[in-house]
Amino acid sequence: MEIDRRSFNKKLVSGLIGSILLSNSALALSFNRKNQQRLGVALVGLGGYSKRQLAPALLDTEYCYLAGIVTGTPSKEKEWMEKYNIPKQNVYNYENFDDIANNDAIDIVYVVLPNSMHADFSIRAAKAGKHVICEKPMAVSVAECNAIIKACEEEGVKLSVGYRMQSDPYTNEIKRLVKEKPFGDVHYVSSDAAYISRGNPNQWRLNRALSGGGALVNMGVYAIQSNIYGAGNNPTSVSAQEFSTRPEYFKDTDETITAQMEFPNGETGTIFTSHNANANRLFVSFRQGWAELHPCHSYGPLAGKTSEGKEIKFLHQSQQMLQMDDFAKHILTGSTNFAPGEMGKRDMIIVEAIYKSIKEGGKKIPLSLGNMGIVGI
Ligand code: NAD
Repeated sequence: MEIDRRSFNKKLVSGLIGSILLSNSALALSFNRKNQQRLGVALVGLGGYSKRQLAPALLDTEYCYLAGIVTGTPSKEKEWMEKYNIPKQNVYNYENFDDIANNDAIDIVYVVLPNSMHADFSIRAAKAGKHVICEKPMAVSVAECNAIIKACEEEGVKLSVGYRMQSDPYTNEIKRLVKEKPFGDVHYVSSDAAYISRGNPNQWRLNRALSGGGALVNMGVYAIQSNIYGAGNNPTSVSAQEFSTRPEYFKDTDETITAQMEFPNGETGTIFTSHNANANRLFVSFRQGWAELHPCHSYGPLAGKTSEGKEIKFLHQSQQMLQMDDFAKHILTGSTNFAPGEMGKRDMIIVEAIYKSIKEGGKKIPLSLGNMGIVGI
């Protein structure tokens, strides 16, 4: 039985017809409207990002769908089962999670937990024979990134990091300009990724044991990524500085960090990241012009322009939908993995170098990354 997924969702929401369709939906969910196979995704951790972005996006994906959930909060089970038509046998908690190995309805495990839990659950997912999407930052150390990559290689499963920007058309337009050089070579690149944190001071993002760091690991990874695809290369060195203006709130994690990068052909770059400022931009200066994305790192709609006065504009689509479909297509057809594990590991190498530079008074830290994690440039 073939059901148009988008109209199915509308019917589901409207209730009456949706309830009639439910009995046949398990079959329908496994195939898209072109009768191609769809992979079952289990979300691990049903916090803000899963609830507000990933689960809604999985209603619109073509090549995967929300098949299961893993939660440590029993009260969420019923709500999610009803809302997303998830059968009881596809619901797990953190203790019985490893039983997911016996569940053929789950193809991909998507780890959406606090950063310090990424490695443990990604490795357990790989050992259960499931493909893995691990949220950003990939882990809280390079050693953990290595352990995730090793587990996925040993188990023969695919691995991706939740870098939604890598599937976004605006990001890919900058990559195209860098690659095709209509404005010549890149001279300088600058990117900012920051927001003001005012919430609960006890939240996990402000607790280093759970987050692995502050603004740098949370937002800074976006700025690192933008600098890299904006320059078209990995940096060869980084120097960094840390600033603190609200130490009573940011007791345990970094508030604001700036860093300077050198690239192999003499290009330079700067990044700014903060939990105490609003900034969201990428600027690429080429020899004969420039390109800018502003906003650049948010969920969209994004916006951009070039020195020719031309607007960079694409139809707004959910980045999470594009990202999860890209990964599902990669598994199903061998197409490009736009955010492989090496990309997450590379960014963590740069994060560790930035923290090292800060600790050593802004010393320049050399990097030997080669092409690690470079995709589509
Ligand atoms: P959140 O605080 O809203 O949710 C965290 C979830 O983890 C909750 O369901 C909570 O119950 C669960 N959890 C389990 N053990 C916990 C513990 N010891 N402490 C706190 N929570 C615990 O967080 P979120 O915003 O959903 O972020 C989750 C992950 O997703 C993070 O790695 C974050 O970096 C990432 N994220 C990515 C994006 C993106 O755009 N790619 C956006 C937001 C979050």
